[in-house]
Amino acid sequence: MVDKTVPELARETLKQLIARKMAPTPANYRSVFNEIGRLPNDPPFPLEELRKIAQSLPTRTPGQQKQRALLEYAVSQMNWRGVQDALVAYGAFTPRESVESSGFGGMHNGNGNGKAAAATHPPRPETPAAVPGAPGLTREFLEQIARLIEFTRPALGNDDARFAEQTAEVIQALRAPDADVMQAKKLLSTYTHRVSFAAEDQAEIRSTLLHLLQLIMENIAELSQDDSWLKGQIEALMQAATPPLTLRRLDDVERRLRDVILKQSEAKGRALEAQEEMRQMLRVFIERLAAMSHSTDSFGNEMEQNAGLIEQAKSLAELTPVLKQVVSATRAIAQQSLAARDELQGMRDRAQETEAELVKLHLELDRVSAQVRHDPLTGALNRKGLEEALDRELAVVRRKDAPLSLAMLDIDNFKRINDERGHDTGDQALSHLAKVARDCMRPQDTLARFGGEEFVILMPDTSLESGIDAMMRLQRELTKQFFLTGSDRLLITFSAGVAQLEPDEDRASALKRADKAMYMAKRAGKNRVLGA
Ligand code: GH3
Ligand code: MG
Ligand code: MG
Repeated sequence: MVDKTVPELARETLKQLIARKMAPTPANYRSVFNEIGRLPNDPPFPLEELRKIAQSLPTRTPGQQKQRALLEYAVSQMNWRGVQDALVAYGAFTPRESVESSGFGGMHNGNGNGKAAAATHPPRPETPAAVPGAPGLTREFLEQIARLIEFTRPALGNDDARFAEQTAEVIQALRAPDADVMQAKKLLSTYTHRVSFAAEDQAEIRSTLLHLLQLIMENIAELSQDDSWLKGQIEALMQAATPPLTLRRLDDVERRLRDVILKQSEAKGRALEAQEEMRQMLRVFIERLAAMSHSTDSFGNEMEQNAGLIEQAKSLAELTPVLKQVVSATRAIAQQSLAARDELQGMRDRAQETEAELVKLHLELDRVSAQVRHDPLTGALNRKGLEEALDRELAVVRRKDAPLSLAMLDIDNFKRINDERGHDTGDQALSHLAKVARDCMRPQDTLARFGGEEFVILMPDTSLESGIDAMMRLQRELTKQFFLTGSDRLLITFSAGVAQLEPDEDRASALKRADKAMYMAKRAGKNRVLGA
């Protein structure tokens, strides 16, 4: 503002209006006044009109109520920024259908006539809008379903991108202004199917977690004296409990824990043996001590008798035989204690050796499990061996530009074999599958035990179709070569996923695709082979 008082400015404004031959309207006066005073020439604030608009906004939810109050306040303060913020926030609290169908639109075009507004926006705000072609099915109803889906979605896990996409699609279809009911119904039906799978997965994840916890607890009880073992297991559990949780990951951890428990029981078995050895040695030692004290006793008695004889002896000739006896008895006892000392020394050395052997055994168990590339039970490559083999094959594929396929197999209902026939029979079944697989594989194919009852077969120079055929051949072969347990013939079946490596695909991604296809094969009813 220039350095003039308001009365001075007012006088000057009037002079200018006359000089410029302008009509003395309030608008002209304000414009010239602002010009002379170098004030911003903002349009006047439509206080009353905005107040009316604010008062007519519906307040169906607490959010709307709050924003309308803020709007009224901003209007009373003639604060444009506040008006804008309150209106934007009010919009966010307005369900889509009520914006579209409420009198808000009518207010906007300045038409306060209820009938005219109803003509341009047919549904009144109070009457729920009917969905075209489905009387009684209102937009509000569709919106409720959309919200139900939105709210329940997080409970069904969020690591499946496809499921997330599908959810977004359904919600979008339900909220579309021109929602096609038949289309929405179709989407909802597929989606419900998918939700049932997702819910099933969640339930399975929970029960697997509980199972894991039980395993840990069992183990803690067994291991209460050995802290380092315990620490490793707790770490594994922590890792398993880190999101995102997937069934496959939990399965993996369960398998690892089982391995640890197995290793442990091996070490424990050896420790028990050593303990038994020590006990034996202790028994011998006590027997030896008893014998020694017995000899010492008889030595004492003999000495007493000899002392009596010495006292009664009247001549040296009489003493000579007694002395001889004393010397020989003393020598005998000295020899005995020397022998006992040697024996005890030997026992101590053996005990030390056993202890050292135990320490070595523990170290060996860790070293061996980290280095070995073959699974001792089936002779197939283990996971580490598989990774190396796969990297080698990948290098060849890139060089030769030849196809490479891999299959992921998982025995069907293997747990049942274990539960009904025992773990040893389960082990034999695994060896049987490995043997049959090797029999019908080509020499250049590689068999690996991926873990538990899962195997991977690498097939160089093999397209997806041929890979699927090869797995189906193995299925047929298993129906010919039964697994014999006692006098029973068991049919072992498996589900498999086959993936052909894409150019530049890494091993983890290919294994994941095959694993996913295998999972789908399980879902589709097991005992089948699917391509990834
Ligand atoms: P599905 O057909 O759906 O795969 O069911 P399943 O019973 O085969 O699968 P699940 O993963 O529930 O069970 C696999 C079982 O394999 C659990 C585990 O106790 C057992 N297992 C894992 N490794 C070994 C092993 O080395 N020897 C034996 N005998 N059993 C094992
Ligand atoms: Mg399995
Ligand atoms: Mg299985």
